[in-house]
Amino acid sequence: MNERSPFAQLPSVSRLLENADIQALVHEHGQATVVHQIRGLLDEIRKSLADGGQLPATEQLLQTIRHSVIAHTRPRLRPVFNLTGTVLHTNLGRAPLADEAVDALVLAARNPCALEYDLETGKRGDRDDLVEKLICELTGAEAATVVNNNAAAVFLLLNTLARDRKVVVSRGELVEIGGAFRIPDVMTSAGARLVEVGTTNRTHLRDFEGALDDETAMLMKVHTSNYSIQGFTHTVPEAELASLAHAQGLPFVIDLGSGTLVNLENWGLPHEPTAQEGLAAGADLVTFSGDKLLGGPQAGLIVGRKDLIATIKRNPLKRALRVSKITLAALEATLRLYRNPQRLAERLLALGQLARSQSDTQAAAERLLPHLQTALRKHSVDIEIAPLRSQIGSGSLPIERLDSAGIAISPRGKKVGILHSIEAALRALPRPVIGRIENDRLLLDLRCLPRDQETEFIVQLEQLKVASRC
Ligand SMILES: *Cc1c(COP(=O)(O)O)cnc(C)c1O
Repeated sequence: MNERSPFAQLPSVSRLLENADIQALVHEHGQATVVHQIRGLLDEIRKSLADGGQLPATEQLLQTIRHSVIAHTRPRLRPVFNLTGTVLHTNLGRAPLADEAVDALVLAARNPCALEYDLETGKRGDRDDLVEKLICELTGAEAATVVNNNAAAVFLLLNTLARDRKVVVSRGELVEIGGAFRIPDVMTSAGARLVEVGTTNRTHLRDFEGALDDETAMLMKVHTSNYSIQGFTHTVPEAELASLAHAQGLPFVIDLGSGTLVNLENWGLPHEPTAQEGLAAGADLVTFSGDKLLGGPQAGLIVGRKDLIATIKRNPLKRALRVSKITLAALEATLRLYRNPQRLAERLLALGQLARSQSDTQAAAERLLPHLQTALRKHSVDIEIAPLRSQIGSGSLPIERLDSAGIAISPRGKKVGILHSIEAALRALPRPVIGRIENDRLLLDLRCLPRDQETEFIVQLEQLKVASRC
């Protein structure tokens, strides 16, 4: 290899590390990371040289190193624009928090705080005390406890109160909530024995009565949150299940799933059962998620009878399922907002988005349409405003749809592949845009694009690069 060979001219790792720009990268990201990226790039260049490629200019090489270090060190958990039309999208992190909750969790994260410390007595406290009174005030429950999510709440409840004993549930309610949460499997892992009664479409009180024996631990109702059985159906009203359970001295519990604390009809939305209604119907315990309709952080709330909550809190697994100070800070701040329901929709982003009118989403579509047309002018697609139907998501009100509006992109001719290219290009933007493809159209539902983020959305469209595979 002579001196003029491009291989010999390729700078070494140590020479590159002397460069001031590279030193700045090392200072920011650490030597090992930068060296790893440089080695990888030099390998690629050597391969390309062996295939007859050109030696890059030094400036270009430095720029490539900069880009690859930045791409490699960029956080993986990044904000996206949720234009899927599903408001509480589990894969996109469900409910965005209210500003009040964000402020509270930042304070708790940055500072020591009285998490398990009673400021009056100076003695050790219980972290549940931070929110228990507030939850009781809002739900009318005697007591409450908080765990990692609703799946954990159901698991802990069953493991504490029904281990090695029977839990009677209607066949119509053996739900699977995306992922691995299936009522029969949760029962098994919690050590409880599931007794299914009735049929898929009809369950009667006598079915429950016939299933009770001295091994029965409880009667349970699971809110069929993500599907609906329609037609010739019958379910037993909660109050009747509660009376039947109580006549035997057994608890009646409800897994509410989403669970809200307010009547959603006040915001023009369909009714979703509230925790208060469950308790008023006689449920001894009700469990629900913190990050579905409640609009708070991921958490599972168990509310109800004081003696049962106390027993649940003594289960050693409670320690394994407990929430952090960050979650509690956000949850407390979220729950406090419920004291002023009049202002709830302006503070809880998800509720505001759910309540957003079609004309408001239509106006957003009109503002954005010209920008998308410009960004995609070179591609053979038609771009227009379309009426759309959003859904609540996270298994809440699976049948109901909310009238919305957005942008529909359709291919000219039959070249549907272009939609996948555009979809991928939108996902590759600095703040990825997530839409959905339906019936050969790429749909961007604008219900969940906050007005004050429209500029950010528009500005980054300049960087849209659609790969030409069609
Ligand atoms: C969503 C849901 C769960 C699981 O709640 P997570 O908070 O996601 O753990 C359990 N049961 C029902 C009925 C649900 O809808």
